[in-house]
Amino acid sequence: MLENVNKHFGELHVLRDINITVDRGEVVVVIGPSGSGKSTLCRTINRLETVDTGVIMIDGEPLPEEGRGLARLRSDVGMVFQSFNLFAHKTVLQNVTLGPIKVRRQNKAQAEKRAWELLDRVGIADQAEKYPAQLSGGQQQRVAIARALAMDPKVLMFDEPTSALDPEMVQEVLDVMTSLAKEGMTMVVVTHEMGFARRAANRVVFMADGQIVEENTPDAFFTQPTTDRAKDFLSKIL
Ligand code: ADP
Ligand code: MG
Repeated sequence: MLENVNKHFGELHVLRDINITVDRGEVVVVIGPSGSGKSTLCRTINRLETVDTGVIMIDGEPLPEEGRGLARLRSDVGMVFQSFNLFAHKTVLQNVTLGPIKVRRQNKAQAEKRAWELLDRVGIADQAEKYPAQLSGGQQQRVAIARALAMDPKVLMFDEPTSALDPEMVQEVLDVMTSLAKEGMTMVVVTHEMGFARRAANRVVFMADGQIVEENTPDAFFTQPTTDRAKDFLSKIL
């Protein structure tokens, strides 16, 4: 998926020779200290950030620099951010139908039918006519997940989806993510929730200073980290 990707912000070498492949149906959890380049990695996969060198491929197709091809491949990558990013002046239902209507050219009835199914799946169909501000953080994040799913993405990226939530709302979002993982959704998840990583991940990628330092199954990574960086990181968070 990413081959030899390098990126600088000025002097800062924020991504160093990143190679990562995510297979269909795989759940990859990315962890690492703050500032290690995890968010930048997520954003490059969607060309929200450009790269200096390297190739990004989605389902075997290289991501073009710009134009229609980029828009099409970009819409195959769903994004869920820490800060929900819902449209404040649209209802929950409209938030979920907007992309399918505008980008996927679905008609309103089709898009709404699917939106109801997805809202039901994330457990908030009863909130469909409300506005985001009327919902709790956990509910808003579940809307954001439903919105991403409505585009039928090939891969879903999560960048610290529970970091902005009050503690009592973290689990309801992780539960939705866990069930998506079980259903075979291809996911890349940046998170500090190690319980989720252990339960749902096929692979853990540990980043530090813009590099992939270690990559392993969750079991092996958590019980036998091989590098000092990973041991040090785990000793601080576990
Ligand atoms: P993480 O998500 O792992 O905390 P980020 O990818 O957000 O790390 O950031 C990696 C590094 O790149 C940090 O040192 C950050 O300050 C820097 N950085 C991120 N975005 C920008 C930007 N738009 N311009 C300059 N530096 C940036
Ligand atoms: Mg980040």
